[in-house]
Amino acid sequence: MTLKGKTAVVTGSNSGIGLGVARELAKAGADVVLNSFTDRDEDHALAAQISDEFSVSARYIKADMSKGTDCRALIEQAGSCDILVNNAGIQHVAPIDQFPLDKWDAIIAINLSSAFHTTAAALPLMRAAGWGRVVNIASAHGLTASPYKSAYVAAKHGIVGMTKTVALETAEEPITANAICPGYVLTPLVEAQIPDTMEKYNMGREEVIKKVMLERQPSREFATVEQLGGTAVFLCSDAAAQITGTTISVDGGWTAL
Ligand code: NAD
Repeated sequence: MTLKGKTAVVTGSNSGIGLGVARELAKAGADVVLNSFTDRDEDHALAAQISDEFSVSARYIKADMSKGTDCRALIEQAGSCDILVNNAGIQHVAPIDQFPLDKWDAIIAINLSSAFHTTAAALPLMRAAGWGRVVNIASAHGLTASPYKSAYVAAKHGIVGMTKTVALETAEEPITANAICPGYVLTPLVEAQIPDTMEKYNMGREEVIKKVMLERQPSREFATVEQLGGTAVFLCSDAAAQITGTTISVDGGWTAL
């Protein structure tokens, strides 16, 4: 399958899942726009590397997904947006009665409201192009909960709900909206937690991964950013044209429990 001629905007894509999804979309031929809130040489270098490796156009655009105006400006600067991947996200863990208000606001803004703004800005471009795909990176926490993650779980359930609404509003058009719900994925964010956890539980790396981190993931394997990228590419394919308003779990069986 080829996505040649399509432009994909992936929010929060200078690391982890967003970068993995952008790379798989580029591998399938799409031009890509990378994004985060920084503006470092290495951010632009990531785009240059994708461009060289996959012979596509790749740009990096700085925009802070905690700000509605930046979210809309990202789509405006991209100029076209056939594929919108709402991926930017952060996490904070605390009991609800001790949950810092600024963390609650930031998680709701970055993990949920950003997708409202980017989708609102991108849909007119998709309609003008006569084709569009909205792919929201939700989470197993969009379908189920864990203690101490009130803001994250609320935002991820929220984005699953918004995905359904966007799908209904575009149902008679050649546009689809779906959410991918990953379980644990070995991104730099998760990798960084392994040494501390090894120390805390006095366990080796493999034991920490299987017994602590992947305790809720029946496969006892991390999902990979390539698998998530491949799922996004599938959602952009003709085979997925009638898949809209739903979730695809990539969670090693977590939500089957
Ligand atoms: P990550 O920290 O590697 O990536 C997060 C990305 O979001 C980074 O590129 C970061 O720069 C960007 N970002 C953060 N704040 C931003 C802001 N204000 N404006 C623009 N960009 C911003 O983490 P990840 O694990 O790759 O997470 C990506 C998405 O996948 C998130 O939405 C996360 O909730 C979701 N997810 C991750 C996992 C996992 O196990 N890693 C599981 C389920 C869902």
